[in-house]
Amino acid sequence: MNDEQRERARKLLSQDMTATDNAASAARSEPSEPVGGFSVNWRELDDNLAHAEWVALRAFVEWLTVRYHLPVSMVPNCWWQHGDLVEELSALHAAHQAAFDETDAGFGPLNWHERFATAQARLRNSGSGCTSTHDGFRPRSWSNVTDEQEWDAWTNRSHAEQPPRAAQRREG
Ligand SMILES: [Zn+2]
Repeated sequence: MNDEQRERARKLLSQDMTATDNAASAARSEPSEPVGGFSVNWRELDDNLAHAEWVALRAFVEWLTVRYHLPVSMVPNCWWQHGDLVEELSALHAAHQAAFDETDAGFGPLNWHERFATAQARLRNSGSGCTSTHDGFRPRSWSNVTDEQEWDAWTNRSHAEQPPRAAQRREG
């Protein structure tokens, strides 16, 4: 191999390594298949899509409660009539799907279990009071509770002014 050939080989090798590095960093930053898309936004869910989402969530909740021995006091049979429980369980469902997705590198299931442990405390609070029959409590209502005149006056200003004490200290 002469000098020219050696130089050419060095350049090719360096290009090849750069290409490998670029490919590796692209693989790190952009997974080949996008992960996600499992979340359900119940606030904006279209009625046409509702049935399928309810069925999927119910299957997950029934599996979850049996698999992890969740008591009726935590997830009552009427869970689907409790908005806060639906939100919590739906979030767990979405996270579970992402955690166990085939594109997950392997930490997803452990992360999910860690999140699940903290979610159980919230579930305990949400499900309280409905262990035998559903107590159809009235949800909080916002109709006729806001003084619209007061609201309009209030919202014309940011109310971000400094507290008077701090302002005085700066002047003095
Ligand atoms: Zn209930």
